[in-house]
Amino acid sequence: MKLKTRIAVIICKVSGALLRKMGRGGTNLPGKLALKIDKNILGELSQSVKVTVVTGTNGKTTTSRMIEQAFSDAGFRYFSNKSGANLLTGIIAVFAQYCSLSGKCRYTHALIECDEAAFRKASEFLPVECLVVNNIFRDQLDRYGEITHTLNAIREGITHIPDAVLCLNADCSLTASLAEKIPNRVVWFGVNVPIYTHAAHELSDAPYCIHCKTEYQYDYVTYGHLGGFHCPNCGYGRKTPSIAVTQILTAGADASDIVLDICGREYDVHVNLPGGYNIYNAAAAAAAAHVAGIDDETAVSALGQFECGFGRAEQFTLGKAQARMMLVKNPAGFNQVINLIAHDEGSYKLAFLLNDRFADGTDISWIWDVDFEALAEQQERFTQILVSGVRADDMALRLKYAGFRTDRLEVVREYETLLDRVGADETPAFLMPTYTAMFDLRNEISRHTDIKAFYE
Ligand SMILES: [Zn+2]
Repeated sequence: MKLKTRIAVIICKVSGALLRKMGRGGTNLPGKLALKIDKNILGELSQSVKVTVVTGTNGKTTTSRMIEQAFSDAGFRYFSNKSGANLLTGIIAVFAQYCSLSGKCRYTHALIECDEAAFRKASEFLPVECLVVNNIFRDQLDRYGEITHTLNAIREGITHIPDAVLCLNADCSLTASLAEKIPNRVVWFGVNVPIYTHAAHELSDAPYCIHCKTEYQYDYVTYGHLGGFHCPNCGYGRKTPSIAVTQILTAGADASDIVLDICGREYDVHVNLPGGYNIYNAAAAAAAAHVAGIDDETAVSALGQFECGFGRAEQFTLGKAQARMMLVKNPAGFNQVINLIAHDEGSYKLAFLLNDRFADGTDISWIWDVDFEALAEQQERFTQILVSGVRADDMALRLKYAGFRTDRLEVVREYETLLDRVGADETPAFLMPTYTAMFDLRNEISRHTDIKAFYE
């Protein structure tokens, strides 16, 4: 190991430890310092490690945790960037953390959840064995600009890793286009059947053929622009996935039961999280486990044992009520949460928490692309409709236009009051915060109750 790499590792470890001691963990500083000393530090530290990278717009964290469960059950010696440090500097800090002072990594596998933009950079250095691309949706408008930027960032990253196996979502016309003109082996995953009996009226992020701009035709839609697509003009269309969900047995409010075909063998799989998007995450995780050489039985049982990811569907008790917290960050993800609520006939309280800080996306116009109308149609079954967050008034306005009666909408600015209201009776609640609102809410909740057990 080169001297400068060793120095960079020491600086990274020491500054990381100091910052944690000062209660300022999770900054990018240690990775930045290390990168200043050795530009190729990530390449040096990762050279003997088999790296699985998960990228795409929605579901990265949940898919990563599912893969992690499979790695753990298979007895792999692995590490991951669990804390959501998914920028290049964060990834460097994680590799530094898991290697010895001399720069030797003690683990055989790494599981890295990676932002699309960070993937483009990290792929120059990481010996990626497997790349999982879940899906590509339009994210907050101002964060990556056009959807094609996201796609091109991933496409460019793939050119750095010709030996990697790609696990691609066959049902996403944008993601599937990544397979063109590359030498990589591709393992397709997808869902062969509709997930919901009636799909929400969602705007498609990709209605037109990526090659010839003709409108796609669909045999079925699972959600958003995902499904059995084909272009009637140029013939571009869905590939048959080798990891395929062939039946949806149940899709409940807590979990789904599906039949998953893994290269010709069918397995009944219990997915321990609700919603159609988690069925995709499970298929993606099964594909990654397959590429890593984990036997199907282990991979399938890992999906059933998997516990909720951080903020993705945390459940806890607030006062007298059971509450579920579902992170919402873009129209497609939000529509999935709405789909879940709209297909469950119970009585619920709803709380919408909209912030517009950088991590949420400062332009909140995306809420106008969310299908709140589907909930407004059923508003009588919601006992309370609470609105909060920095941009509570904008959210209330959006809900009003969706058809919610204004006398039923309550803007509650204080989270403490909001939680008291949610906990006042036994009607269960869905809390739907944007990213920073989720952190604020969790802080407030942890003051009220001990909920650590639900996300540790
Ligand atoms: Zn076409």
